[in-house]
Amino acid sequence: ILLVHTRFELSAYRAQDLPPCTVPEIVFSGRSNVGKSSMLNKLANQKNLARVSSVPGKTVSVNFYRCDRPGDFRLVDLPGYGYAKAARAEKIKWSSLVESYLVGRPAVLAVQLVDSRRSLTADDADMLRYFREQSIPFVVTMTKMDKLNVTEQAARLAAFPPETGVEDARIIPFSARTGLGVDALTAAIAAALPG
Ligand code: GDP
Repeated sequence: ILLVHTRFELSAYRAQDLPPCTVPEIVFSGRSNVGKSSMLNKLANQKNLARVSSVPGKTVSVNFYRCDRPGDFRLVDLPGYGYAKAARAEKIKWSSLVESYLVGRPAVLAVQLVDSRRSLTADDADMLRYFREQSIPFVVTMTKMDKLNVTEQAARLAAFPPETGVEDARIIPFSARTGLGVDALTAAIAAALPG
């Protein structure tokens, strides 16, 4: 409910296109195909806010979504990483754009997405380490939970806090398909916003 007034603001393809940080930002990070677009659409209760792709490894851009009620803040969608077939040039573009975004720009909350069927990748761990070092509050969402049965879900949930290597990681099981975790994540976002 909090995020229904979200609308697309802009996509930055180059560092110089990044807008100045004028409102609180909630940043979303994860490997490509982890379910980030589906999560944003589900949170905002809109079908096509973010583009859902069946093909991993899309264009490298930082997408900004603006929500002006309540308060004024942004959801920031970082480009997905870890696409094995990405060309080296694409990977370099990814790091330089993401670094340009992150440096000197502390988000009020980072949402790190991890596929519930997979183990944490080195890139996932790097992102978590970065948020921690920068004292950026973060949550870890385990996506596509509907693909696991109840036993598998329990096993993954038990494994995940240690796997993140971060004792204070808050884990939120999530499914864009069933709506699992939408309330918990919305509450975490609301709690992170000033005022
Ligand atoms: P992104 O690359 O991280 O933005 O991932 P997308 O949102 O485009 O999703 C990648 C693929 O995973 C698509 O085929 C989605 O339909 C699928 N997907 C995303 N979220 C879920 C989910 O919660 N459950 C299931 N079963 N599939 C999902």
